[in-house]
Amino acid sequence: MIRKLLQKIPYPFGRPARRRTTPAIIPSSQHNLSRERMNRNAVTVVDRLQQAGYEAFAVGGCVRDLLIGMEPKDFDVATSATPEQVRATFRNSRLIGRRFKLAHVHFGREIIEVATFRSNHGEESTDGEVQSDEHSRQSETGRLLRDNVYGTLEQDAQRRDFTINSLYYDVRTGNIHDFANGLRDIRNGEIRLIGDPVQRYHEDPVRMLRAVRFAAKLDFEIEPHSAAPLVEMSELLHDIPAARLFDECLKLLMSGQGEQTFELLHHHDLFAPLFPDTDEAIEDNPDYTLKLIRHALRNTDDRIREGRPVTPAFLFAALLWPALPNRIKALEDSGIPSIPAHQQAAHELLFEQCRHTAIPKRFSVPMREIWDMQPRLERRSGRRADQMLEHPRFRAAYDFLLLREAAGEQTDGLGEWWTRYQSATEDQRRSMVRAVGDKASGPKRPRSRRKRKPRAQAD
Ligand code: ATP
Ligand code: MG
Repeated sequence: MIRKLLQKIPYPFGRPARRRTTPAIIPSSQHNLSRERMNRNAVTVVDRLQQAGYEAFAVGGCVRDLLIGMEPKDFDVATSATPEQVRATFRNSRLIGRRFKLAHVHFGREIIEVATFRSNHGEESTDGEVQSDEHSRQSETGRLLRDNVYGTLEQDAQRRDFTINSLYYDVRTGNIHDFANGLRDIRNGEIRLIGDPVQRYHEDPVRMLRAVRFAAKLDFEIEPHSAAPLVEMSELLHDIPAARLFDECLKLLMSGQGEQTFELLHHHDLFAPLFPDTDEAIEDNPDYTLKLIRHALRNTDDRIREGRPVTPAFLFAALLWPALPNRIKALEDSGIPSIPAHQQAAHELLFEQCRHTAIPKRFSVPMREIWDMQPRLERRSGRRADQMLEHPRFRAAYDFLLLREAAGEQTDGLGEWWTRYQSATEDQRRSMVRAVGDKASGPKRPRSRRKRKPRAQAD
């Protein structure tokens, strides 16, 4: 369907140069964007900034997605006003960010992100100001540590990541300003970095992840020059703050195209810097690990499509699960008994993972619970199965068990048992538990021989 819509976008130019310095202005008669299709609050922001005498455009993902016929996730505005001037124009706004300072204009729960035109580094800023540490900083590898040198619209168009993200829509005139041949690439379904890919990835290695994300989301190809350096440069992601990478992981894997995104990440060696332990598990045990990851992501994609809730806790539990056995084995080999080895392995794996993607506690705590409940799902004697059923995390733990089984883990029909138990009558439940109890009293379960406490205390 997307391809069909793309055919409608006109292609009025000859073979264009890589960088265009004069804008191609595409009038409203030649594209399918309109003021009405744009978000009302974004239009208000652009109108108000223009009335206050500034240049202002809708830009980035919202223009790109609307041209393709997709629903934009959020709406970004680019303007000649500085963040402070935006702040002064909108009472309902806040300044955010240090590395990249911008204004958020709030409309109830909706936020319109307003960014001031930036210039490329090494160019003079619009007010002729000499660049200082305060505005612009780069690391030894060329990574931009701060990107607050303001510039003109033309300069802003060149500093954006991909040509398809560098389209500016003027809501008043209806014109689209296209300095980087973004429309051509939208039409051809190509993700192309603006400028030299190696330099642009050095400036911000997260652009590598963004290339893959947009390729999966839009069903586009990463054009060869933009794709070629990915494998070689993927290591640069280790320098990115773990909190930023966690946010990026959510966008990559929880936006509805997680499975396809994973395939691309894996293909371009970009999965390893995000999940190094899981990547090792893929090498050691590819069939099982890849099956589990793909299954988890497919489930997540399906749930998103059906409007059902998804949580990073479940997905991260799944992505890291295949990395646990190696760690458990190493600890057991060093003489640590099985149960503490499991606990310690989980703790260490999570700690290590957080150095790459900083998983906030609100997700890591339930994630650990899902893991810890897996062996407990096996113990069903007495009142345990009923207590388990009442546990607030039961559903997630049960779904997780089914996921493990779908990936080929042998559990002796445990998932099927729980499926039946949930819909069984009280009598059926008692006999199911008795049947398990008979098994559980065998030699596999020395703990059942423990002296029973009086009933009131045991509960
Ligand atoms: P979506 O919102 O659907 O994820 P988007 O393209 O709008 O996609 P945002 O992260 O919202 O992405 O960024 C808005 C715009 O800012 C982008 O379209 C791009 O022009 C620019 N941009 C964002 N991140 C970068 C970056 N790392 N380097 C250069 N430009 C960027
Ligand atoms: Mg956006």
